[in-house]
Amino acid sequence: MNPNQNLTTDQGLIAKHVCKTFGDVKALDDVTLDVSPGEFFTLLGPSGCGKTTLLRIIAGLELADSGRIYSGGKDITGLPAIKRQVNTVFQSYALFPHLTIYENIAFGLRSRKFPEAEIKKRVERRLEMLDLSAMARRHPHQLSGGQKQRVALARALVNEPDVLLLDEPMSALDARLRAQVQEDLRRLQRKLGRTFILVTHDQAEALVCSDRLAVMRQGRVVQCGTPEDVYDNPRDSFVAKFLGAANLIPCTKAPGGVQTAFGFLALEKEPAWQEGTVAIRPEWIGIGDTEPERNGIRARVTEIVYRGTNFDLWLEPGPLRVRTSSYRRIDPGREVWLELAPKELVILEDETR
Ligand code: ATP
Repeated sequence: MNPNQNLTTDQGLIAKHVCKTFGDVKALDDVTLDVSPGEFFTLLGPSGCGKTTLLRIIAGLELADSGRIYSGGKDITGLPAIKRQVNTVFQSYALFPHLTIYENIAFGLRSRKFPEAEIKKRVERRLEMLDLSAMARRHPHQLSGGQKQRVALARALVNEPDVLLLDEPMSALDARLRAQVQEDLRRLQRKLGRTFILVTHDQAEALVCSDRLAVMRQGRVVQCGTPEDVYDNPRDSFVAKFLGAANLIPCTKAPGGVQTAFGFLALEKEPAWQEGTVAIRPEWIGIGDTEPERNGIRARVTEIVYRGTNFDLWLEPGPLRVRTSSYRRIDPGREVWLELAPKELVILEDETR
């Protein structure tokens, strides 16, 4: 079969059936992904799940054992890194300490022998775009973490790559700055309209930045979709928990729903299993003083945790976690009605039998 079949030149970045083993570790186990041109795509997963290995294979820094990589409709599987229209921003930024910020950004263009006027034009444009113009003459050690991170981005973007790979580029920043940079990065990507592929183990980062994300586990893609889609409809308990807080309720199939430790819960669909798990996010559980029409649970608040934007309540039977707004304080000991509405209950694929 012609490996380029069905591919057109406007296509983005495609990984097909990629496998990679290190000794007896299966770092990538048949990974297939399709990133559209101009998309912000994130590889999300716990440490060791294979994210960086996949990124390095896309960059041409590592060779896959089997499988193919296509970019812009071309098979680039065997193409050396230098020949790919791909640039990487590493976790460590890898700036040259002895060069000024200007020269750090200009480096790639100089080594590709661009004329001086073109280098100046391109570097100044990136300096301005990333709000670094005032730092051009400084050296990396004279910058903050966030500024260094922006220099690393500018240095990659100055080469105008079709695809920008970002390997945990925000991990060295403190939490507040990281939240700021995530939004900046999202805005920058929209402005540039280029393909960004981000590697992270931080679910909040993935939700903020991505058009689509792939959740990885043990070398495999478990689920791929928009942040809303994956958050709202996790496939299994791993994805449900990795993307945020989730109540996972073991249950047995019953007519019209499931039987749980709290009693019967009506569902909108029939589960495919006999014994399994349903999930509900803490913010989707209704809380009130009157018994709801369906799926009501009488519960007692055992603990309350203040989080600034909201309260997390822990309740028995359960434990169930419920998220209420920060002006809705319900003290431990109070009895309430919980509503686990059928449309909010997600049937997970996990089977317990
Ligand atoms: P992290 O978030 O910790 O960087 P990751 O999801 O990026 O993790 P990878 O770095 O891709 O994971 O590693 C996947 C698996 O392959 C791990 O078990 C890792 O130990 C192993 N591995 C990666 N590179 C090598 C290598 N060069 N030699 C041996 N094993 C490796």
